[in-house]
Amino acid sequence: MRKPIVAGNWKMNKTSSEAKDLVRQLVPLLDGVKGVDVVLCPPFTALAAVSEAITGTQIDLGAQNMHWEKSGAYTGEISAPMLRELYAHYVILGHSERRTYFGETDDVVNTKVRAALSSNLHAIVCVGETLEHRESGKTEQVVAEQLRGSLAGLNENDWQHIIIAYEPVWAIGTGRTASPEQAQEVHAFIRGTISNMQDSAVAESTRIQYGGSMKASNARELLSQPDIDGGLIGGAALDAANFAEIVKAAV
Ligand code: PEP
Repeated sequence: MRKPIVAGNWKMNKTSSEAKDLVRQLVPLLDGVKGVDVVLCPPFTALAAVSEAITGTQIDLGAQNMHWEKSGAYTGEISAPMLRELYAHYVILGHSERRTYFGETDDVVNTKVRAALSSNLHAIVCVGETLEHRESGKTEQVVAEQLRGSLAGLNENDWQHIIIAYEPVWAIGTGRTASPEQAQEVHAFIRGTISNMQDSAVAESTRIQYGGSMKASNARELLSQPDIDGGLIGGAALDAANFAEIVKAAV
C-alpha cells in the first residue's frame, strides 16, 4: 500500500509572517487527519518560520529547489545541509517553472536529485508535457525522457526517497485540470517506465503525485484513480480550507 502524499508548493508567495498565519489556520483543520503525508514547501525565506510553526504537528517541511553543492561560491543559492538544519525533509526538483524560466535540464535535475539523496532529503521530482507536446502525441516520449534523464543512475535504496510529481505544464496555474482518465493514463505509463528503469517492486512502491490546478472540488475524483498517490498543489495550497480538503480527499 502506498501512503498518499499531498504537498503544497507555495511558489514565490507568503512572507514569513504571512506563512505563519497560513500554518496557524491549517493546523486545526488537519487535526486528527491520519494516513496521509502532508508537506508544506514555502519560499526559502519562510522555511524557518514554517518549521517552527509545524513543530509537534504531523506536517512536514519541504523546499522548492536547492543547489547540488553543499556550500561554495554560488551567489543566491541554498544547499541541502542548509535545508536539513531547518528540519526540511523534502525538496521539489525539476518543477516546470524551474525548467522553463531557469533553464534546468534533466542533467541538472539529476545532479540535484543525487545531492538531495546524499543529504537524506526526499526528492519530489516533477515531469510533464507542454500542450504542444500533448497535441502532437509526444506526451509519453517527453515524460519518459524526463524520467530517464532526471533519475538516471539511482539504486533501489535511492528510489525509496523519490516521489514523482506528474504535472502537465498546460494544467499548472491555468485552472485547466487533466481529466482523471488523462492523468491516470500518464501515471500508469510513469509506473511502467519506472518498472523498466528499475524493477516492478520499485515501480509499485513509488508514489506518483498529480499536479496541475488540483483543488478541493476536483481532488477526490483525481485521487481515486489507482495510480494517483497524492497531489502537488500550487494555487489551492495558499488557502488553508481548500488545501485541508484536498488532504482529506487523499486519505
Ligand atoms: C505547481 O506549480 O506545482 C502546481 C501544481 O500549481 P497549480 O496547482 O497552481 O496548478
